[in-house]
Amino acid sequence: MSIEAYLFLSYQPGWNGSPDRIAQMRAQAEQYDQHNLAVAQEYHALYCAFRAAAEKIERKSEMRCTGRQRYSRMQNTPRWDAIVSSEPHRPLSNKADLESKLESAERDRAREMEAAEAKERERQKKEAAQAKAGRAAAYLIALGWKIDRDSWIDPKSGHGCGSDAVGIANDIALDVAIEDRKKEIAGGHIEFGGDDNCENCSGWDGDSHRCECGNRRVSWEHDGDFESMNVWAEAY
Ligand SMILES: [Zn+2]
Repeated sequence: MSIEAYLFLSYQPGWNGSPDRIAQMRAQAEQYDQHNLAVAQEYHALYCAFRAAAEKIERKSEMRCTGRQRYSRMQNTPRWDAIVSSEPHRPLSNKADLESKLESAERDRAREMEAAEAKERERQKKEAAQAKAGRAAAYLIALGWKIDRDSWIDPKSGHGCGSDAVGIANDIALDVAIEDRKKEIAGGHIEFGGDDNCENCSGWDGDSHRCECGNRRVSWEHDGDFESMNVWAEAY
């Protein structure tokens, strides 16, 4: 409504027509309009935020029941009076409604993002596992292994060893690493983890159950897989 119409409706009983009174009422009306404009802008921002959140998660029905038409009227020229004049109390109750709907839309959005991220992580993990299985298969084929139906066939024994290419490749890599280490030892002794209790002990020969002084039981420990295998001696 216009300032004049507002003045007329609101101040008719006290109307005396004096220039001072008109100026005073005009100032009050301007203040009223400024306040309304601020509130309308706040609503407009809230509505835009909700609509963006609702659109992202495609909550079309939510958008309709929050009074889309009422708020969309304010989008270009936010005017509070059009709302106040038709439904003075509704906008205030709608504000809380809009805020809670915005919150729930944002929560849903966050949940959806989380689920999508978890799904993506799962996909990447699966992809990495498949790639690793492919490299393990290449490793086995290079060593003369063949696949028969779902089972890998050991070229030495001719036996099927199952379908787990990564597991088989890891076992082979461990054996190879240990053999390599033994060649390096070449009949001598090496230090091992946990040899603090030994006295005048030259270490472990890489084959026996115990170290040279007989104080500790020693075996091979390992870390890694067929792509990078690390072995060392450790008392247990
Ligand atoms: Zn010893």
